[in-house]
Amino acid sequence: MNTGDFRNRMLAQKASAKINQLSQDMGNVRIMHVCGTHEDTISRFGIRSLLPDNVEIVSGPGCPVCVTTTKEVDEAIFLAKKGITVTTFGDMLKVPGSNGSLADIKAQGYDVRVVYSITDSIKLAENNPSREVVHLAIGFETTAPSTASAVMDSPKNFSALSCHRLIPPAMEFLLNDAGIQSSAKVDGFIDPGHVSVIIGVEPYESLSSRYKIPQVISGFEPLDVLFGVLRLLEMIKDADYSVVNNYPRVVKYNGNPKAKHILNEVFETIDVKWRGFPLIPKSGLEIRDEFACHDARKKFVISVESDEVSTGCRCSDILKGIIYPMECPLFKTKCTPENPVGPCMVSSEGACMIAYKYKKII
Ligand code: SF4
Repeated sequence: MNTGDFRNRMLAQKASAKINQLSQDMGNVRIMHVCGTHEDTISRFGIRSLLPDNVEIVSGPGCPVCVTTTKEVDEAIFLAKKGITVTTFGDMLKVPGSNGSLADIKAQGYDVRVVYSITDSIKLAENNPSREVVHLAIGFETTAPSTASAVMDSPKNFSALSCHRLIPPAMEFLLNDAGIQSSAKVDGFIDPGHVSVIIGVEPYESLSSRYKIPQVISGFEPLDVLFGVLRLLEMIKDADYSVVNNYPRVVKYNGNPKAKHILNEVFETIDVKWRGFPLIPKSGLEIRDEFACHDARKKFVISVESDEVSTGCRCSDILKGIIYPMECPLFKTKCTPENPVGPCMVSSEGACMIAYKYKKII
């Protein structure tokens, strides 16, 4: 099948009809995805309008920019103010720290540069051997292997500020009583295709069996998502608490062993806070001591005292699937892409930015 096949209107209508038929005798069903690209597909193609009233898809903590904490932004700002060149992806520039953003200090003349990949950051370090270059490394399992590879082979004036996070521990947090379960129950997960390419199917399986939650790994075309919803409804109905790989054209059961090996070689898992969440056990990646010379936190003394600033932003509830962007009182009033109040309105993967862009939320 080519891309057009996954956007076929007739097939989408058939899938929608089946979903409507299947859900007729079901109660309310809440399906969560944990990927900004899934949210983009769902909003862009109006997938929610094809679902019956009793089936909803909510957005989880799947936007890496959105879950990067105020403290991590403050750490990058601290380093730039010490005269270090800080590189990052464009989406991170406007994310608020406790006292401004990287964009603000760039405007003040500090050396903050936007790069398209970590390779650009390494090239910058190679071309400027007398300067220290720190890359603000964000993202999930998808981007962490690039950072691992950079850490293993980079000039001595390059280091990474690792803000990488892992998706399955966040899903487990949401399933725990301490998480979303008590306030907004989730009946099934659409698992992120990109992350699954790296980690494969196995890391989700224990979640399914321990929490009795069905999961479907999905691609990013409209029919991928619709068939994912259909499969989840069938599984919920059959009490089938397993993981179905509906994206076998890209995702293999064992994922990418080479990428997993390099991740394990360079990083160890640690407990970290996610923006809007408390500490999530074993959900962060810290650079191992063997590579301390490329770990910005070990190479430099970083001293920041970060407070969560109270702005009225509801990103925390959006990242837990408790509210939709339009339910935040600041949406499109005080908070816009030009003047974002919270990170969900900054990143192209943020639910608020996506809702603003496509102007259809539910
Ligand atoms: S609309 Fe803005 S203020 Fe409201 S939750 Fe989204 S990012 Fe935060």
